[in-house]
Amino acid sequence: MVMKVGHKTLALNMYINGEWRHGGANQKRTIINPANGEVIAEAVEGTVSDVKQAVQAARKAFDSGIWSELSAEERADYLLQAADKIDERHDELTALETMDNGKPLREAGYDISDAAACFRYYAGLILAPHGETYHVPDNMQAMVVREPIGVCGLIVPWNYPLLMSVWKIAPALAAGNTIVYKPAEITPVTPTKLFEIFEEIGLPKGVANMVMGAGETVGNEIAVNDDVDMVSFTGGTDTGRHIMKAASGNMKKISLELGGKSPNIIFADADFETAVDYALFGIYCGSGQVCSAGSRILVEESIKDRFIARFVERANKITVGPGDDPNTEMGPVVSQEQLDKVLKYIKIGKEEGAELACGGYRLTQNGLDKGFFVAPTAFIHTKPDMRIVQEEIFGPVVVFQTFKNEAEAIKLANDTRYGLAGGVFTQDAAKAMRVIKKVRAGITWVNTYHGTYNEAPWHGYKQSGIGSSLGTYGLDEFLETKQINFNLNVEPIGWFAE
Ligand code: NAD
Repeated sequence: MVMKVGHKTLALNMYINGEWRHGGANQKRTIINPANGEVIAEAVEGTVSDVKQAVQAARKAFDSGIWSELSAEERADYLLQAADKIDERHDELTALETMDNGKPLREAGYDISDAAACFRYYAGLILAPHGETYHVPDNMQAMVVREPIGVCGLIVPWNYPLLMSVWKIAPALAAGNTIVYKPAEITPVTPTKLFEIFEEIGLPKGVANMVMGAGETVGNEIAVNDDVDMVSFTGGTDTGRHIMKAASGNMKKISLELGGKSPNIIFADADFETAVDYALFGIYCGSGQVCSAGSRILVEESIKDRFIARFVERANKITVGPGDDPNTEMGPVVSQEQLDKVLKYIKIGKEEGAELACGGYRLTQNGLDKGFFVAPTAFIHTKPDMRIVQEEIFGPVVVFQTFKNEAEAIKLANDTRYGLAGGVFTQDAAKAMRVIKKVRAGITWVNTYHGTYNEAPWHGYKQSGIGSSLGTYGLDEFLETKQINFNLNVEPIGWFAE
């Protein structure tokens, strides 16, 4: 049972050096509920100067050792406390996530539970052995120790406001770094609650700092600031490209989780109803605003008519509505801007000559007119070079493509600049393995879609990213690697004559 959060407008402040601050510019950003346009919060708008203060606080905290020099067990204990507090506030956080992002309660509920689980995972992982020793010549003991990087700048998007944040915050803190974190400008609500939790559990001052605000100012300053040692970014590919350039001044380490246009490949021998079901889930879960969305359905020619007919029949039955209605299966898109973008792509698809099999319009009936609702949409008769096939729409819009054989399926699957995710549906295990191995993507599924676990890395190929989140790989992102050569024979080397 999810708690109802009242209509009181929340006042959201920044968190710098263990204090809640109003920000230098004294400006506010209005945060709205995408289901009905109601104001849910006023968030202070951060400035470049606010980021600089946050970086200073993080730098000081890092250099002092108050966090990096704690034992792994002590740091793990803070992470476990954060996980417990998230669980305690599960229903409140779920309701807030739905209010801010629009996703249905059942989706938001999973995100909140996953966020707690992610803290627990990294609390456990940091206690595992790290580093190596080597048998080397010269009476030397060689070893590798892992150390925190320093001040990590963390920048996240709006599609999983809390979960995407925790995917970065948990490993960064576990590793002993201090952080300057920026939520997406339009979804700062649950992130602010997380920082309330940090305050409550007594995380040392300056270890975790949050500055809200625009990408071009706050985000950019995090990326360019010379006192930031690493920037970990999740968002669009074009923004990622900008971050790479901005981070080059002090050669800071970068980790980028970017966009996708992922293929979901359906062979004729797939379990038909399972494939249809996951194809729907792959695109319409999260209203298509999921980086790994199966936004291109590649279906084998021989079953295409039957498959598309069944897909459309089911897509038309999806209950679209406000996320806090328990009957809702798909919520709104996140903002007016996103609505405009999605509708623009639908127009482009029609102009390019693709045909709508379902949807293709904004939903405004039954009180949906104040929100940003789009009918589940599918295009057929597409061509590989169409913009709707190549570009990430990030909404409930899927394109169908067809193939005649395995080789053509693989060619089409890999025919975009992205390489984030991909799925294959077939009952032929060898074929599944052959195909999935050829899909140039970091996150793949066989006879399923979207599921991911803290234990396994989340990683993009091609223009979908650099580096990984989650798993041991996600922790590695936030650690330096130091070689120590320890001489066991302390006497002069005698290289130069005396
Ligand atoms: P976005 O790139 O517009 O914004 C992401 C974040 O970057 C926001 O916090 C934004 O304020 C900030 N930002 C924007 N411009 C910036 C700049 N010049 N300098 C520094 N920071 C800047 O992306 P979005 O619209 O918020 O999110 C959608 C995108 O995120 C999609 O492309 C989606 O695929 C991607 N995404 C990827 C993953 C993944 O794991 N690969 C996960 C979730 C979302």
